[in-house]
Amino acid sequence: MVSATGVATAQPLFSFGLISDVQYADIPDGRSFLGVPRYYRHSFLVLQRAVKEWNTHQKHKFVINLGDIVDGFCPKDQSIHAVKKVVDEFGMFRGPVYHMIGNHCLYNLPRSTLLPLLNIQTLDGCAYYDFSPVPEYRFVVLDSYDISAIGWPQDHPRTLEAMKLLRERNPNEDKNSPTNMVGLERRFLMFNGGVGKEQMKWLDGVLHDATNLKQKVVVACHLPLDPCAATEEALLWNCDEVMDLIHRYNCVKVVLAGHDHKGGYSIDSHGVHHRVLEAALECPPGTDAFGSVYVYDDRISLVGTNRMASTDMHFDHQTSICMT
Ligand SMILES: [Zn+2]
Repeated sequence: MVSATGVATAQPLFSFGLISDVQYADIPDGRSFLGVPRYYRHSFLVLQRAVKEWNTHQKHKFVINLGDIVDGFCPKDQSIHAVKKVVDEFGMFRGPVYHMIGNHCLYNLPRSTLLPLLNIQTLDGCAYYDFSPVPEYRFVVLDSYDISAIGWPQDHPRTLEAMKLLRERNPNEDKNSPTNMVGLERRFLMFNGGVGKEQMKWLDGVLHDATNLKQKVVVACHLPLDPCAATEEALLWNCDEVMDLIHRYNCVKVVLAGHDHKGGYSIDSHGVHHRVLEAALECPPGTDAFGSVYVYDDRISLVGTNRMASTDMHFDHQTSICMT
């Protein structure tokens, strides 16, 4: 392909669509507890415009939804309807859509109801999986709420493990409050979660396999994994363990995350790019936050719309970048 300036540019291997934190609910606009405006009904319109764009102008191979498709304030008698409405809108995209779960999805519905609606097919209620759209690339979707106080039944071993961890690491009565907690400790909040032992073992196996197949890997996870790309309160509980495992291999090039609505970007000490996406929920009426991602052999380019910043992620980047 030759650009307008006559310079030869490589064609991407493939492209895909990206959106995060739609957090739709049929309720009036509100604010986060930090006072950031939230547009619960408008976010659905952002998704509609995203799907239209992905269908009209692009030949995307698939779409990734980074989680939290409905908001916790959605009236509970409307939860199923709201989830179906958003999933159906994603379904208007002419290709596969890969969903993942977020805390807000789990405030609305238990895993047993939610996962079939999101078309996440696993045997044991877990929500991690991988796929390979072209032989050169592998995508790994992590389950951020594997160890979690939300989403599993109250007496489930994973709920008990999560509550034990929160009691040990968070001194507050309200386990969603980081009061008096310092630095990275502030991630031990009830609205976050962790990756359990079995999922770690599975991830190790996938990265080993991808390395053998010479595949580059993109990890997608609702909760961010790098403190330089997100606030401490948004991080996965055991982000350090997961990153230690990822850094044992050389195959993971990019980590995509949601949850921390303002967005962020960093390159860690091993050259892995971390891109936390701006939330569709926080787009004032008429504005958008979604993206198209172009994947090459040596880089991944996110082209964002409106409030979603564009990011060029070159794999040979040697210097770490910390935005916080
Ligand atoms: Zn979230």
